[in-house]
Amino acid sequence: MEFKEVYCSNCKKVLGKYNTKFYSEDKIGELVNTTHSAHTRNGHQVHIRILEKN
Ligand SMILES: [Zn+2]
Repeated sequence: MEFKEVYCSNCKKVLGKYNTKFYSEDKIGELVNTTHSAHTRNGHQVHIRILEKN
């Protein structure tokens, strides 16, 4: 299974993990701009990393 992990390098924490089977790239981008917008609004560097899990 493949997951995308939304990570804030300023807070040094994982904001969320999303299964790519259920969350498209667009959907994750939308979540970054809504659910996690407090970080981007404060100028934090939010990255999306790919994780693979069996
Ligand atoms: Zn942050």
